[in-house]
Amino acid sequence: MLQLNDISVTFHEGTPDEKEALKHINLVLEKGDFVTVIGSNGAGKSTLMNAVAGHIIPDVGDVVINERQVAHLPEYKRSKWIGRVFQDPMAGTAPSMTIEENLAMAYARNKTRKLKPGVSKKRKAIFRDYLQTLHLGLEDRLNAKVGLLSGGERQALSLLMATFTEPDILMLDEHTAALDPSRARLITEITEDIVKKFDLTTLMVTHNMQQALDLGNRLIMMDKGQIILDLPQQEKEKLTIEQLLEEFQRIRGEQFENDRAILG
Ligand code: ADP
Repeated sequence: MLQLNDISVTFHEGTPDEKEALKHINLVLEKGDFVTVIGSNGAGKSTLMNAVAGHIIPDVGDVVINERQVAHLPEYKRSKWIGRVFQDPMAGTAPSMTIEENLAMAYARNKTRKLKPGVSKKRKAIFRDYLQTLHLGLEDRLNAKVGLLSGGERQALSLLMATFTEPDILMLDEHTAALDPSRARLITEITEDIVKKFDLTTLMVTHNMQQALDLGNRLIMMDKGQIILDLPQQEKEKLTIEQLLEEFQRIRGEQFENDRAILG
């Protein structure tokens, strides 16, 4: 479903500010995989997401989405295959429009159904059904302006809208990081439900290690532009946060020793 073949990204190449943000990344997500990505600041997580979405075109390597080579395509051309939810609850929705207008906009973007925008009676019923699955009571507020919703409600709506295009890949960019703990937990639960309901292939970046352990069927840890740990479901479900941190320190320690060995 998603394949990254030997992706590398260098910023400011050939200048004193040169930074190799991704180094030969290889990653395959099969249909229905839900991969969580963690790593410290500057590890390359955002660059990885941007390379998948087309916000950044890699210097070398292929990006393949559902058997299409997309590495050369800009972001707007990839958006029909990708649903993305960002950290900022304001990013995914139009605040001056109502809930149903926002949903109608996302609904019309569906790549297989080729729909006209607008809200019909039939669509209202469809939207109500979808909103009911969030258990937030939004189905009774179809005419409310989205700008009046709480951050958690907006993020739930953004998630739903991102799924309306029936994306090949759902990308979640620290989508609970700006929420208070109880809302973050709620959105985490909603995420789990939505991914299951729509059987979505999902790539999620998070700073929350517990969330990375709880959600998804595979956990990836990045450091210095590389994938340094790749744990399948059976291994990650046995781990505690403490063990995960120990593993991170052990690998970094080894890397540090390797660096020292190379440097003599
Ligand atoms: P993360 O999301 O894990 O915090 P990033 O992908 O944002 O890491 O950054 C990886 C590295 O690339 C960092 O050293 C960062 O400073 C650098 N970097 C990211 N974006 C840019 C950019 N637009 N220009 C220059 N350097 C960048």
